[in-house]
Amino acid sequence: MNNAFEKMLPNFSFEIFPPKRTGSLESVYGTVDALASLHPDLISVTYGAGGSNRDNTIEIASTIQNRYMLPAVAHLTCVGSSLEQTDALLAELKEKGVRTILALRGDRRADADFGDGYFKHAAELVAHIKKNYDFRVLGACYPEKHPEAPSLEADIAHLKEKVDAGVDALITQLFLNNDDFYRFRDLAQKAGINVPIIAGIMPITQASMLDKVVSLCGASVPPAVRRFVDAYGHNAEAIREAGIAYAASQIVDLLASGVEGIHIYSMNKAGVTRQIAQNIHGILYSLRVKKS
Ligand code: FAD
Repeated sequence: MNNAFEKMLPNFSFEIFPPKRTGSLESVYGTVDALASLHPDLISVTYGAGGSNRDNTIEIASTIQNRYMLPAVAHLTCVGSSLEQTDALLAELKEKGVRTILALRGDRRADADFGDGYFKHAAELVAHIKKNYDFRVLGACYPEKHPEAPSLEADIAHLKEKVDAGVDALITQLFLNNDDFYRFRDLAQKAGINVPIIAGIMPITQASMLDKVVSLCGASVPPAVRRFVDAYGHNAEAIREAGIAYAASQIVDLLASGVEGIHIYSMNKAGVTRQIAQNIHGILYSLRVKKS
């Protein structure tokens, strides 16, 4: 089984989303073309997040795996799904050659017409996949705690259960202040979590993204980010460049701290992702070591 997280560290990966209802698959493959040329270790494909279409996740992930010959990660949520529905998706992923799943609970939406589903927490989905299939399984984690968790410590206690259920590596929710990541990583290590923790980075390249990020995942906003958004928000080119520079500076610092991987939330913006990659490739590759 391809286990890029264990073969090469720090790992370097991207996240993309399927087209929204009005978008085309071709435009997503245009993004994949551009991202593949940056030689990531993995490209992950979201599942129904942010209004994207659930139907295309498997098709895009299998195309990345089989046509682009790049390890693909299919995100899979279990909220509102029966055991049979989840197993049908896992069987299809297996048949189409996708080998890695990001196993998620998903968000309970007030307007959704489904109940909780068969699996109540991602840990149960992870255990099910590990018991019945041969996938590598990734899990999500939250440096500033999951919004529903009463405290970071309580969240990490549940995260430990998820890792013990068989998670091979974790990818964090986006964060804008690296100190939040370091505090979380220390607490996770103290709790006995010893799988790679991959840092999720989202470049803020438009003023509107900041409010979205804060309301969707509760990320705290450091003064430096607030300042560049206030100063350059009205100037599309300036804020794009500032967002890229800030994300690159976060990554430089994370790499210096020994982070095991960087996962860029590309938002399907290949140009932004390319610029960040160009900024950090030299450092990243000088640090890469083979793990047996
Ligand atoms: P869980 O691990 O189940 O945790 C959810 C909450 O339940 C936490 O507060 C946790 O502390 C608590 N908990 C866990 N176990 C227990 C227990 N036994 N008892 C009580 N409480 C418990 N969403 C999508 O819809 N599609 C995507 O593609 C997608 N991709 C994502 C990628 C990443 C890297 C991240 C970080 C998030 C992604 N999400 C996606 C969002 C995710 O689905 C939501 O954050 C969701 O609310 C939680 O999912 P989870 O897998 O972390 O849940």
